[in-house]
Amino acid sequence: MKEAKQYTPYFLKNFQGFKVKDYQESHIQKHIKLVLQPKANNSRLCARCGEALGRKRGEYYVEAKHLKAFGWTSSVRFPVAKCECKNCGKIRSEWIPFTCPTSPHITLELAWWLNRLSEITSVNQVSKLESIDKMACYKVDKYLLRRFLQGYEIPKVTHIAVDEVYARRKKKKGENRNDLFLTVVVDLKTRKVLWVSKSRDKEALDVFFQMLGVDACKDIQVVATDQHDPYTASVNEHCPSAKVVWDRFHLVQKFNEALNEERKQEWNNIDPEGEMGDLLAGKYRYLFLMKSKNRKGRDIKHINEVLRLNERMTKLELIKEHFHRMFECDDKVDAQVMLCECYEWAWQAKAQHIVKWIWSIMDDERFWNYFEFKVTTSLSEGINNVIKTLKRQAYGYKDMNYFALKIMQKCGYLNSRYYFLATN
Ligand SMILES: [Zn+2]
Repeated sequence: MKEAKQYTPYFLKNFQGFKVKDYQESHIQKHIKLVLQPKANNSRLCARCGEALGRKRGEYYVEAKHLKAFGWTSSVRFPVAKCECKNCGKIRSEWIPFTCPTSPHITLELAWWLNRLSEITSVNQVSKLESIDKMACYKVDKYLLRRFLQGYEIPKVTHIAVDEVYARRKKKKGENRNDLFLTVVVDLKTRKVLWVSKSRDKEALDVFFQMLGVDACKDIQVVATDQHDPYTASVNEHCPSAKVVWDRFHLVQKFNEALNEERKQEWNNIDPEGEMGDLLAGKYRYLFLMKSKNRKGRDIKHINEVLRLNERMTKLELIKEHFHRMFECDDKVDAQVMLCECYEWAWQAKAQHIVKWIWSIMDDERFWNYFEFKVTTSLSEGINNVIKTLKRQAYGYKDMNYFALKIMQKCGYLNSRYYFLATN
C-alpha cells in the first residue's frame, strides 16, 4: 500500500534548482523553516554575469524570508555555492533564481507580495505589517516596479495633458531648477497617468514620445500644457497632427499676477492713512482676484465700498469678470470679441500690466485652441492627492526615479491590475 503523502502548498515547495530537504516547525514562534538542498543535476550560473559556472570552491548558507501562511511566518535556508567563473575570471556566488536580486534575504514570492501591498499602502506601513526592514521593502518595491516598466507599453491615446509637478526643494550638485520638477503625462480621456519623467525640460517629454513610437505619435490630436515652451517644442517635433492648448487655470493665474500688480500700483497711489488705505491693503489681495460669484457677505460689502470710492478699481473689477466669463464662450469668435474688450478697457484704465499680458497671448494659437477643444491640464484631485502623500513620505523627493515609478503605480498602469511584465 502507498503511504499517504502530506499535502504541501505549492509555494512552499517551488524553489527552482532546489528541493525541500526538511521542514522545521516552531509552534512557539509560529514559524516554518524550509531547508533546501540543490537538485542533483542543477547547473549553476554566475550571479554577476549569468554565464555557466565551473568548479565548486566552497559554499555558504543563506536564510531568506518567505511568505506568511495561515498566520505563520516562514523562511527558507539553502546553500549558495561559490564557483569559478571563467567569464569574470574570479570566484563567484551562484545565481539563486527564487530570491530578489536587490535583497538576497527576501524570496521573489515575498517580493511580489510586498510590491502588491505597496500598491494600496505606503512602504513604511508594509514594512511594519510584514516585519521587514524599511530599506529592504523600498528596494524590493523599486526593483519590481522597474521590471514592470521594462514590459510597459503605453496604451493608445489621442488627447493628453502634460503638467509639471514640483517635487523637491533642494538642488543637488550640477542640477538646475528644472531638475526639481517631474513631468506628468495624463490621458485626458481615462484620467490615468501614462508617464512620469524626471525634470521638466524638453527631453523629459521627448522620452514619452519616443516610448510611444512614431506611429502612435501621429494619432495624438490634442496636448494640453501650461505656458512652458519646452513642452510645445517637443510636441511640435514629435506629433505632426497635434494641437497644443494652453491650460486655462495657468492662464488665469498669470492674469491674476498682472491684476495684482495693478492693485499694488493703486495702493501706492493712494493715501495709506485715508479711507482707501485700509481697503486696498495686501491682505485683501485674494478678495480682489476672486471671481465675484465666489465672494461671501462681508467680502461683498468690502468690495462695494472699494468700488464706490475708487473708479479705477471698478474698471479693473469689470475687466477681471469679463476675462473669467470669456472662458465660458463655446465659440472662438465670441471669445475673441470679449478678449478685445478686456484689452480696450484695460487700455482705457491705463492698466499697463494687463495690457501687456493680454498682448502677449492675443496672437497665440495655443490660447485660442482652448475654445475649440476645451481641455485643461489640471490633474485630477485623486492624482494630486497621491503626489502629495508620496511627497510627504520621505522617499518621495530623495529618489526621483522611484517617485516617478510610484506615481505610475498608483495613478496609472504600473500595477498588478494591468500586467505589463516582460515575459521571461
Ligand atoms: Zn561571472
